[in-house]
Amino acid sequence: MDSAVGDHISPLFYIFAGIALLCFLYNFRRAFAARIGRTETRSLRPWEVIRNALYFGLLQRKVSSRRFGYATIMHLCLAWGIIELLFATTVDFLATRGLFLDILPGKDTPWFAALNETGGLLLILGIVLALIRRHSGIKPEPLPQDALAGRGNLFGDTGVLLILLLLAVGGFLAESARLAIERPATAGASFVAYPLTYLLPSNIWRLLRPGLWWSHAVLALAFIALLPRTKLFHILTGIVNVALTNTSERGTLRPMNIADLMEDPDVDLESLVLGVGKVEDFTWKQLLDAEACTECARCSSVCPAYATGKPLSPMKTIQNIRHNLYARARDDRTAMVLIGELVSPEDLWSCTTCRACMEECPVLVDHITTIVDMRRFLVLSEGKPPEDAAASLEKTAQQGNPWGFPRENRLKWAKDAGLEVPLMADKQEADVLYWVGCAGAYDPRNQAIARAMVAIFQAAGVDYALLGTEESCTGDSARRIGEEYLYETLARQNIATLSKYRFNRIVTTCPHCYQTLGKDYRQLGPAWNVIHHSEYIQELISQGRLKMDGKVTGRVTYHDACYLGRHNGIYQSPREVIARTLSWEGKLVEMARNHKQSFCCGAGGGNMWYEVNQGERVNFNRFDQAGEVGADTIVTACAFCMIMLDDARKVRDKEERVQVKDIAELVVENLAPAEPGSGRPGEPTRGSTASNERS
Ligand code: SF4
Ligand code: SF4
Repeated sequence: MDSAVGDHISPLFYIFAGIALLCFLYNFRRAFAARIGRTETRSLRPWEVIRNALYFGLLQRKVSSRRFGYATIMHLCLAWGIIELLFATTVDFLATRGLFLDILPGKDTPWFAALNETGGLLLILGIVLALIRRHSGIKPEPLPQDALAGRGNLFGDTGVLLILLLLAVGGFLAESARLAIERPATAGASFVAYPLTYLLPSNIWRLLRPGLWWSHAVLALAFIALLPRTKLFHILTGIVNVALTNTSERGTLRPMNIADLMEDPDVDLESLVLGVGKVEDFTWKQLLDAEACTECARCSSVCPAYATGKPLSPMKTIQNIRHNLYARARDDRTAMVLIGELVSPEDLWSCTTCRACMEECPVLVDHITTIVDMRRFLVLSEGKPPEDAAASLEKTAQQGNPWGFPRENRLKWAKDAGLEVPLMADKQEADVLYWVGCAGAYDPRNQAIARAMVAIFQAAGVDYALLGTEESCTGDSARRIGEEYLYETLARQNIATLSKYRFNRIVTTCPHCYQTLGKDYRQLGPAWNVIHHSEYIQELISQGRLKMDGKVTGRVTYHDACYLGRHNGIYQSPREVIARTLSWEGKLVEMARNHKQSFCCGAGGGNMWYEVNQGERVNFNRFDQAGEVGADTIVTACAFCMIMLDDARKVRDKEERVQVKDIAELVVENLAPAEPGSGRPGEPTRGSTASNERS
């Protein structure tokens, strides 16, 4: 921005600037609405705050997305254009007044002129891309809104873009006027503004210069004054939010310690509200998340619930929280009720906690904890889980498994197959504690996977043992449904059981057990070395303890489970294990949505135990995605994914054409024959189990 008309700056400019600053501060106060939230328990070290601000804020790390390439380029142009212009304008303003000349970069230099011009050009390019996107239907989730008054934001999305365009073009014209009159030695570096000077004779530029300068200055000041009321408020809230995000705990549910609460004599149980029923019940950080939302719709466009026609749109949920927050902050008595009016229970029950939304969110919004906290309110304070979920919770409480099968039948899968499996109760210590999980113990399809794991342990000569009937549900589904009290009860039981024995590692085939035992239980104390079977099998193969003879033919695709991939970052091990099972006629093909962009099977977040009867079933959609790449075999590494995809295979009548297999099954089918005299069996040892089973 050309900061002077001639050498003199009118005092009027300073008056306008002062008014703009006061208006900005007045409007900015809405950012502090988040203060009505509860205390935040996730602490941050100062260096993490700085790192987050630079990495996610300045460098826009999460804005860059392979999936949203167009939007990435658009936003980077806009953001970097604004950052450059802000820097150049600040330097220009201070240098013109003779301030900080010792430390400021020289403003009358070619590089400074070029920087200014690049910023303006990037901004205009970003605006044009944004206008095309907004008005040509490229936007991932089109939003019903008036272009100039969108969702409570002043000027709407389009209005803000048009103002920015006016500012950028006005800046170039004001600079052209200056260059045309002053003709500085560095003029040539102004590769946009300088060529424009030739459009008009210099006496016309001289005439226009005051008007161009003042219109640009006043528009810029007015825009600064109103910025907190516009969509661009996210520039400020977004940077503060990413800076204050504890990235290592993002997506981790906050502990409630309900048992301790109940016993606390200072807690008034009559008025105790568990979970989030109104915006004040969120933590201030969750409310800041809502304030930071840029309304980019990335979360909704990758959400499996949204994609399959369920009522949930994660963006709208976050937006509704924000509207409710601002209404509460204004003490608006007509504000709608959060749960029931703004966010429906069906919205909340549709979420599979798959984390796809969080993976894409550029400002690190923590959708999962926000949704689960509202579920906690429905379950713990209102007593209203979905009917089927309530039945499974009841069965879990009674029998220690959500199917409600008798607790004493937990080893039937081995007994019925005549397998001899060692128990911790007998051995007291083992290298590996194999956590079978409820699905492995009771679901017929997953029982086959448990048997395959026994074969693998035996083939590799692993010193392992099971808990047998001492094992109980980890409480993963209960926790994600919102039944934190039941989860805590199960967790404490399992911790007490596991603490009786000595082992080096817990191996589990279920990513939900992996998440709960390895991460969730840490909130209650113990930190065990928990390893998923995909990683463990890969380790056994690489150590030469499992010899493979790949015989698999045809097209094989791997389905990334949400709680293995996005939640725990395990993508390569299952793929490397699969690769060892392929023959030269076999090929590993990727579905369009793979790795971090994978699509949920539909069972996470407790959805395994109830159905939101709207739209298409998520597992059918995922199964069809495998069909699109012509998969003959779908490989899973998760108990729930196996059930969901196998179910879809049957309903889609593809039982003859497509197989669904767990990596453990694939490995057992492709073990090299045991060398004579090696003592390494290829099949689980059969024998009497009666002596092993504890009732
Ligand atoms: S966690 Fe998954 S299902 Fe839930 S809102 Fe996010 S994308 Fe949708
Ligand atoms: S929550 Fe995140 S991903 Fe979703 S619209 Fe807001 S900023 Fe975009």
